[in-house]
Amino acid sequence: MEYRRLGKTELQTSLLGFGGYHLLEIPVKEASYLLNTYLDAGGGYIETAASYGLGESERKIGASVSKRRDEFVLVSKVNPRDKETAASTIDQSLINLKTDHLDVLLLHGVENPDVLKRALQDDGSYAAALEAKKAGKVRHIGISMHGKPTSLLEAIKTGKFEVIMSTINYYDRCNFPEIEDELLPLAASTDTGVILMKPLADGFLYKNPETAFMYAFSRPISVVVAGINNREMLKKDLELAENYKPPGQEKIDAIFTDAPELGEYVCRQCEKCSCVRGIDIQEVFASEAYFDRQMMRGSVGDTAYYALSERLKFWFAQKQDGYDRYAKLNPNADTCDETCEGPCRAMCPYNIDIKYKMRLAGYKLGQKKIY
Ligand code: SF4
Ligand code: SF4
Repeated sequence: MEYRRLGKTELQTSLLGFGGYHLLEIPVKEASYLLNTYLDAGGGYIETAASYGLGESERKIGASVSKRRDEFVLVSKVNPRDKETAASTIDQSLINLKTDHLDVLLLHGVENPDVLKRALQDDGSYAAALEAKKAGKVRHIGISMHGKPTSLLEAIKTGKFEVIMSTINYYDRCNFPEIEDELLPLAASTDTGVILMKPLADGFLYKNPETAFMYAFSRPISVVVAGINNREMLKKDLELAENYKPPGQEKIDAIFTDAPELGEYVCRQCEKCSCVRGIDIQEVFASEAYFDRQMMRGSVGDTAYYALSERLKFWFAQKQDGYDRYAKLNPNADTCDETCEGPCRAMCPYNIDIKYKMRLAGYKLGQKKIY
């Protein structure tokens, strides 16, 4: 399996990383089988968090592969924002994992700049991470968040973090384009290591793992972390990593044309349409993307996707960001009504029914009742 350098940490990480959250769902014996099979196959990155099952994921990893500690990069995460609790959490992680050090500790789920600010205070969790690093308990310090990458952009600019972990997949490329347009270039220019999480968009892309992993592997990242909890999934993910060949741009472009999850609803933010009444169409749909990741589509359609989208639409919710972005628009979606013949639709390479979507976005973002 391909190995890539994790930015300035100089660690080498295997292309496929083993995410430990879903180990909570299986007995330790099966967890041990999966983790050891992954290492036997050449995998070299295992990740967990103190908060996963109150240490249960860490304990399963410790019980399963601590004797092979020098064969993999070990990453765990800390949630508390205050120094004292964070320090004891780090110590407990080491006990759970049966090791004397983490290769990378991530300040986890730093979802907005206020949380980052708290973590960076003198009595915040960053200070605990720094002390752990000085004591040799932690080799490198990183930070993670989901969705819109505001905190990660700020975190890199502080110069305090060697690694970031971000949501990256072809579905959320359309919802949070700043991840690939701003965050990844900034990470590259500062030699910050990038860990990719959620290659399947929390399972939303479950019908197309080949495409989803191909897209994830092709990003300028070091490791793609996939949650694994059964043998079939492990076998498939390993195959995809082992057989990965960089795709051409044509193949990547085709994903955005053909992917069924995007269909004729999700705005790809391509800037190719315009409105005869002056509505900034792309900005309305970008607000909708923040609101619910463009998941509520006004009809049930495929029931499996409907059920999934109902579960995932407000996952790591950034609804307020959607409202705030939309509130700045004048004119907004209300200016689009039945009297317009909808010349915008012919401009959209993805055949999105812009008038219909505009109405739906207006309901969501104007906080009106849909049904
Ligand atoms: S249908 Fe709506 S968005 Fe499209 S041109 Fe007409 S007013 Fe603008
Ligand atoms: S042309 Fe279609 S995909 Fe592109 S910005 Fe307009 S609505 Fe979105």
